Amino acid sequence: MSATAAAKAAAVPYSEKERLFSAVKADLRFEDYLYGCYECGICVAVCPSARFYDFSPRRIAQAVAREDVELVWEQMNGEIWECSQCFSCLKCPRKNNPGGIVTIMREVAVRNGLHSAQQALEGYSRIIYKIMSTGTQVSPDMIRPEAFPDWGPTARETAENLEVWRRAMPPETMHTTSTSWEVDDRTLTELYLIWHLTGVLDMIKTLDESLHMILVDVMEEKLEEAGYPLS
Ligand code: SF4
Ligand code: SF4
Repeated sequence: MSATAAAKAAAVPYSEKERLFSAVKADLRFEDYLYGCYECGICVAVCPSARFYDFSPRRIAQAVAREDVELVWEQMNGEIWECSQCFSCLKCPRKNNPGGIVTIMREVAVRNGLHSAQQALEGYSRIIYKIMSTGTQVSPDMIRPEAFPDWGPTARETAENLEVWRRAMPPETMHTTSTSWEVDDRTLTELYLIWHLTGVLDMIKTLDESLHMILVDVMEEKLEEAGYPLS
């Protein structure tokens, strides 16, 4: 943690850190994800993030198992964002799920608008917008040569002939370049409903108000038609 971040963390009252830790423990999945820790390090040996970052699934499991409120707080403001959520750590002989604990910690960080969550996700707003507004993932029209210089001539050839490539694919739902595939209206409404009713839209609001406003703009009409007005 940097000196500035450490100073900010010290300014947060212990009761607030405790409240967030309680929220982690109160999650329904928590008791299935932690059974204690042998400190064997097997999770570290299989963890790809531990190879490339100052990150350790063992440290996560131990901090939580020891109920170390300060360390858990520190982790929620930093290292949990280094986990790649691959779940190789399920190899744990104690049946722990350190990656799952990280998932819960991230969700609590997002729900409570922690700065670390805002920082970790700020680069993804375009992708979140794309996925949530169209119901599908990064689109082929994002393949621009200037964005993928390491692809050499392949990116240019692909970008120039996108229409042709997409038409060559058998399913009609893929004959588009602005989305990966076409999502029909009914499915899109169902997705909007899920994001609204499960609180995902509210989570976005705590992180990025402008993105939330744009998404509300896109979803409002369909949600209203489905009988779930946003206001
Ligand atoms: S889920 Fe996270 S902690 Fe577990 S092995 Fe993958 S990167 Fe490591
Ligand atoms: S593999 Fe399981 S028991 Fe071993 S250090 Fe990791 S969390 Fe602890």
